[in-house]
Amino acid sequence: MRTRRCGAALAAGLLLGAGLLTGAVACAPAVTPTNPPAKTPVARGVGGAVVSDTAESTQAGLDVLRQGGTAADAAVAVASTLGVTDPYVAGIGGGGYLVYYDARTHRVSTIDGRETTPAADEPTMFLDPATGKPVPFPAAVDSGLSVGVPGMLATWQRALQRWGRFGLAEDLRSAEQVAERGFVVDATFQEQTRRNARRFAAFGSTAALFLPGGRPPAVGSTLRNPDLAKTYREIGEGGISALYGGSIGADLVQAVQHPPLAPRATLSARPGSMTLSDLRAYRALDADPTHVSYRGLDVYGMAPSSSGGVTDGEALNILGNFDLSAMSRVQALHHYLEASRLAFADRNRYLGDPRYVNVPQQQLLSTSFSRQRACLIDPAKAGTGPVTAGDPVSASRGCAPVGAAVTVPDREHHTNHFVVVDGAGDVVSYTNTIEEIGGSGIVVPGRGFLLNNELTDFNFAPTQGGATDPNLPAAGKRPGSSMSPTIVLKDDRPFLAVGSPGGATIITTVLQILVNRIDLGMSLPDAIAAPRASQRDAATTQAEPAFVAASTTPGLQALGHRFVIRDTSPLDPTIKINPEIGVASGLEFLPGGTVLAAGEPTRNGGSAAGVVSPTR
Ligand code: GLU
Repeated sequence: MRTRRCGAALAAGLLLGAGLLTGAVACAPAVTPTNPPAKTPVARGVGGAVVSDTAESTQAGLDVLRQGGTAADAAVAVASTLGVTDPYVAGIGGGGYLVYYDARTHRVSTIDGRETTPAADEPTMFLDPATGKPVPFPAAVDSGLSVGVPGMLATWQRALQRWGRFGLAEDLRSAEQVAERGFVVDATFQEQTRRNARRFAAFGSTAALFLPGGRPPAVGSTLRNPDLAKTYREIGEGGISALYGGSIGADLVQAVQHPPLAPRATLSARPGSMTLSDLRAYRALDADPTHVSYRGLDVYGMAPSSSGGVTDGEALNILGNFDLSAMSRVQALHHYLEASRLAFADRNRYLGDPRYVNVPQQQLLSTSFSRQRACLIDPAKAGTGPVTAGDPVSASRGCAPVGAAVTVPDREHHTNHFVVVDGAGDVVSYTNTIEEIGGSGIVVPGRGFLLNNELTDFNFAPTQGGATDPNLPAAGKRPGSSMSPTIVLKDDRPFLAVGSPGGATIITTVLQILVNRIDLGMSLPDAIAAPRASQRDAATTQAEPAFVAASTTPGLQALGHRFVIRDTSPLDPTIKINPEIGVASGLEFLPGGTVLAAGEPTRNGGSAAGVVSPTR
């Protein structure tokens, strides 16, 4: 481990050795709350790049890269700063999945930092003992019961152990500084606060932090989080055991077991069972990525416990049976939607935490299974979802689906995805979350971070008729996820890194971006900006207004596709939300070593893309 420093004090040899920069090292100018770096959705350059949700987090990553840090170091700086500036979708109260390309070995690896279920919890944890019926979803979210054992810090620590150059304390420093001095509230942050104001007001610690004076902070005001600065400092000094068993962990457990309700709170907030032993037992897991070949490229994703890599991989395998680039745009989109429909039917039937259920991952990703599924796509007619799952184990069944069609709860909330490449060419694609926007709504008192509600990603009650439901709760189990951080290689070298938040729409957003870029010939910025539609084995396809308004829609409707725009909050249907799907970010590695960094031009207020050394 090395200590990072700004300016000329950093040995040029280190930078040259790492292939980073050839000139003097300059730290970025200090950023003050009144002078936040400008956000731009696209950047192009060399020496390293970052795309994340906020200007401060991208800046933190670029600073670390400029100082000689690896992509893993920068990822920790970005993720921890997002915990300050994007606290409703990020932070140490949550978890996520990190995919890493190591430029030295040309290998892709992953870390599964998904939350786990406390040891005392049971498969019936979300059934109301009084009625035997599932707890209403909003009541499950706003509770200690929904809080999974956080995996975020363990992921950061593991990434630094495997690929870092600096230490955790160094990589947390920018986040600590931003938390201390504050960040400028923008319209997106204010809107997210407004949408959650009612439930935030129910928890005293949350209201104190995010509802200053009892209401959402004004756009342009500065929001400071000195408690979180202190928390990061304590973790930097004491290591992650400060949370996984130490005093931060003790405060966390207290908040889960006794949710800190405000005196006049109208909600009841069921307690959770998490203990310090659960925190001590938590491990982020090294895991092999999923892999499929698509149009001569190697696509690597996240294996279960997330369903992302397998579902995207299966859909790509199905599409590999067709030449989308030779089709009309209507037919190409029809095939994209139908491949997604079929892959989701299999996802819902088979995917869960593989340490608890038998997941036929290899078979689901086999090309023979993809042929069995592809032959169900009728070029003249959309499927009427939900469709039945395939039988990946005995692929001899030809075109015939087996079993009954089932539906599972389908949720699209929001998390964050960011990408990093360092000067040596190591790449991080990292999706992480606290689940709902605002998680469980509970800020750990005195610690400045929100707790996740990840356990609501379990099915509350069996969904599979007589068959095993792969995604029921169990002690220690990771809830099913859709997170799909992806890295695509061409001839063993990075070609693309992409991902998105959006609950179950994550999978379709990643798939659609890959199809847009690889099959439909769009540039990466256009592939990300394009209007989205998300078919998840349902009778209707969720779509953005711009997708519905596009010239391809009448043709798709003539094939039987029905589109719906979702514009109300999943927690409160009286609250209107922007009907966007996903908030993607990505990198494309251009010939000659230049990196194209791209995020959202408008969704969620736009992404912040940046490079170490810009080029034209
Ligand atoms: N908890 C969700 C999942 O793991 C992600 C949250 C979101 O993006 O909305 O699939």
